Amino acid sequence: MRILIVEDDEVLLDGLCRSMKQSGYAVDCAGNGKEAVQILLVEQYDLVILDLGLPKLDGFSVLKKLRTHNQHVPVIILTAREGVEDRVKGLDLGADDYLTKPFNLPELEARVRALLRRGQCGASPLMVYGALAFDSVGRRVTIHGETVELSHRELGVLETLLAKVGKVVSKDHLIEHLYGHDEEASSNAIEVYVHRLRKKIEAAGVTIRTIRGLGYLLDKI
Ligand code: CA
Repeated sequence: MRILIVEDDEVLLDGLCRSMKQSGYAVDCAGNGKEAVQILLVEQYDLVILDLGLPKLDGFSVLKKLRTHNQHVPVIILTAREGVEDRVKGLDLGADDYLTKPFNLPELEARVRALLRRGQCGASPLMVYGALAFDSVGRRVTIHGETVELSHRELGVLETLLAKVGKVVSKDHLIEHLYGHDEEASSNAIEVYVHRLRKKIEAAGVTIRTIRGLGYLLDKI
């Protein structure tokens, strides 16, 4: 899952990026509206978190441009507490949800998860395959009810494979879903994550098959 965060408050932006990355999302950041529009014209995202008060181009203009080019990406706007009119205007321009500043992080994270679920056409927050269960809300994986410790990258790989069960997932697709565009992504690293993940999910009777030249396939052993 790829998220773009647009916020000019550097401390807030940094905190948001870090927490979203820890949840296993690929995150890109923009510090002003102009930059956000440039990125949105070339990159595809599963969700955008958009501050309204931005330098160079405000959040409303970003939203307008975004809706002209991509109808579907869910957008959460961040507004000032007293900005009732802003919230109304933002929602009318096509935002899907809003949060008033200051907000707490767990609430934002919950809203992000809710919108991402809606984006998957009401997909269940619990994905089950073999004895493996992936709780996309709690970001937790269990095998026969026992929690499996996974790094956020391993979690990202598994989530991407689970979303495409029965299909071969290319390395490029994994890289796209795991990394922000300013992050160093290597195909060797993907191999390492897959290798580790394979060992960790073995007990569920599930494996990741390497399909030479094509990618990876989640399969039952
Ligand atoms: Ca701002």
